[in-house]
Amino acid sequence: MRTVCVYCGSSKGDKEEYSRAAKRLGEELVDRNIQLVYGGGSMGLMGDVASAVQQRGGRVVGIIPKHLEPSEISGKTYGEVLVTENMHERKMHMANLADAFVALPGGFGTLEELLEIITWRQLNLHSKRIGVLNTEGYFDSLLHFFDQAVSAGFINSEARDMLIQAETPELLIEKLLLAN
Ligand code: AMP
Repeated sequence: MRTVCVYCGSSKGDKEEYSRAAKRLGEELVDRNIQLVYGGGSMGLMGDVASAVQQRGGRVVGIIPKHLEPSEISGKTYGEVLVTENMHERKMHMANLADAFVALPGGFGTLEELLEIITWRQLNLHSKRIGVLNTEGYFDSLLHFFDQAVSAGFINSEARDMLIQAETPELLIEKLLLAN
């Protein structure tokens, strides 16, 4: 696992713990010699994880669509910057450059990115590992919904089981390294 793509909130959320975990994840990546790919800018948890990687001396690639690129919209992008034509191109580059994906707490943007990458794996378009950092139980209700959807016959249990989850960045990276 050389490069991890992190999907996370462009907001910081209502608990200091979210930012703390995002920064810890960034540090953990550097300590394990893993590069970061993220959506660019310095907003919210996105800025927290990327700045932590850069400050600890790791490699960061920020991939941002041109309509979000102006720093008045998204802030400064850390590390190497790749500007794309649109959101679709951005997500394609993020998916291609990474060999694992991690979702941190976030909103619609984060959920859309997470669900898309899960769907692509379910369709065998890739076989890369996908993890969810469940800081402070933020994703409990979503994970519960996935289990409910398995029971209801809409999500295949194998697809559900490939989603790796942990409450701390250290444990999540550990589990991702051990997963197939
Ligand atoms: P959200 O979870 O709705 O805050 O959206 C965050 C996700 O959507 C990130 O992983 C980004 O890829 C993308 N995104 C949303 N807003 C921005 C922004 N202002 N700058 C850069 N990326 C953003």
